[in-house]
Amino acid sequence: MRRFLGPLIVIAILGGIFALVANDLLSGGFAEEFDELTDRTTDEVLTRLDEDEGFTDVQVFDVQADGSLDPAATGRAAEVWELWLDLAGAPDVAATITQYRVGEAPASSALAYVYQDRGIRQFTLAVNLAATDEDDLLLSTLVHEWSHVVSLGVDQFEPGSLEGDVAGCATIALVQGCLAEQSYLWQFYAEFWAAYRKHPDVENRSPVTAEAFYAENADDFVSAYAATNLSEDFAESFTAFVASAEGDTLDGLGDVAAAKVTFFDRFPELVALRDQMRAVAQAQAGVR
Ligand SMILES: [Zn+2]
Repeated sequence: MRRFLGPLIVIAILGGIFALVANDLLSGGFAEEFDELTDRTTDEVLTRLDEDEGFTDVQVFDVQADGSLDPAATGRAAEVWELWLDLAGAPDVAATITQYRVGEAPASSALAYVYQDRGIRQFTLAVNLAATDEDDLLLSTLVHEWSHVVSLGVDQFEPGSLEGDVAGCATIALVQGCLAEQSYLWQFYAEFWAAYRKHPDVENRSPVTAEAFYAENADDFVSAYAATNLSEDFAESFTAFVASAEGDTLDGLGDVAAAKVTFFDRFPELVALRDQMRAVAQAQAGVR
């Protein structure tokens, strides 16, 4: 499981509200810094991100209707993008990702993150190319990030709630809107989070809070980072689900954590996604 504990960061930019969690729970510098970033526009935050993480050589690409990039990427940026397309499928990427950003931040533990903009309802994938040299970690990070895109897409929310009106929400109101009854995250919550007498906010960003929650319930999670919030638990569990095809991933997991990994078996589209991702991973391993 260790390989699922790599540096991951996700930022959700939604109407000026930001959710950021760093997986290094003991050094929450990112989370603390980004807590200050509320009420900023996307562009301001991107600028700030580049500064804060020491990104140099930043390149920005627009995603075209067929998943290709404009301008065309080269070198490592192109290789990572091709891997992302292979893992997620070019049509689905083109339908959800509008921008791809890369930079070099050798001092940052962040490998990649996705974020949403409330206005456009689509995602940007940002990658720190300096952190992409470990193939397994890159793979698991991209799988993790794509699961955020899948679970936080427009189709996962009650349509009427997407402009911020969550009055009468019968599930959970996230910053994006009210989760639909059939959404992945709501089903995941009902099955695994609802029973806790007390749990962190489902959008918790505090590494300190996450660490305490994990300490009390370590057997319930596939990784410490998963205890951060509902979305990270979902993403880490999905990443374990993709890797579990080899048959040994569930070893050592507690019953609840193992049930989180097999949760995804009930969704044929996610099983198909897992098979697609696994084939890509195996092909990549074959050429090493
Ligand atoms: Zn994440």
